[in-house]
Amino acid sequence: MTYLSMTHILQPCVGQDWAIGAYDTCNLEITQAIVDAAAADQAPVIIMIYPHHTPQAEWPTLIRIIESEVERARIPAALVLDHAKTLDQIKGALELGFSGVMIDASLLPLDQNIALTRQAVELAHAHGVSVEAELGHVGQGQDTLSADEQHAHLTGVDEAERFVKETGVDALAVSIGTLHGLYRGTPKLDFDRLAHIRSVCPIPLVLHGGSDTPDQDLRRAIEIGIDKINIWTDVRIPFLRTLKETLDGPIEKIEVRDAMSAARAAAREVIRRKNRLLGAAGKASLYV
Ligand SMILES: [Zn+2]
Repeated sequence: MTYLSMTHILQPCVGQDWAIGAYDTCNLEITQAIVDAAAADQAPVIIMIYPHHTPQAEWPTLIRIIESEVERARIPAALVLDHAKTLDQIKGALELGFSGVMIDASLLPLDQNIALTRQAVELAHAHGVSVEAELGHVGQGQDTLSADEQHAHLTGVDEAERFVKETGVDALAVSIGTLHGLYRGTPKLDFDRLAHIRSVCPIPLVLHGGSDTPDQDLRRAIEIGIDKINIWTDVRIPFLRTLKETLDGPIEKIEVRDAMSAARAAAREVIRRKNRLLGAAGKASLYV
């Protein structure tokens, strides 16, 4: 089989001081950057498709690209649907052979989040596919929320314990102060909260909003108990910046392949750096 289940790929990190990088892709070049980076350092990797970037009708094509790249590089990899909002998206992913799905009902009231997540778990487990869900809500860095509003979105410890028990979910995305995208100021992570959640939740924990978060904060979060870190913006920006720089000249003299290769190389280097920071480099041998 091409992919490891999300549960299987995350299992060796639980209770250890390293985590797996989970990277969104939406095209050939970013897929190649993720796979090349993982292969260069023999790192296990989670490759994700995000419905907001890639319409469902385009998933089959993108999946073929991902599958052929993963087979070429022979690295331990999982294919995960990121931030699914509906059971229809989950069903679509199960038909296409994803090895993990995330159901994100984090903006719903707790009981509704539990109910929708439990339905996603029943569907996915019938296919042997693992499920990640989010409790509390990881917002956007551009959001202009007050400190009180941000605090209200953090994951509650008691709620986390109940959520994991009642949903049967395989991995839990927690809100401890990170945000998606770029931050307006410096993020302030609630490590005590993370430690409490870790002590009551026996499953892998996931940090969304890993981009633009200081290295030392990511390392501390991993040492306390984070096992999967989601990264998009830190790949997107160097990819696009390099593409823009490459296009700065007489456009008729620029080959598409050269421009895309340069962008791909920039993305690959940042992913290699992240995999080493997370401690995933060299861990592929754990999966043979
Ligand atoms: Zn996310």
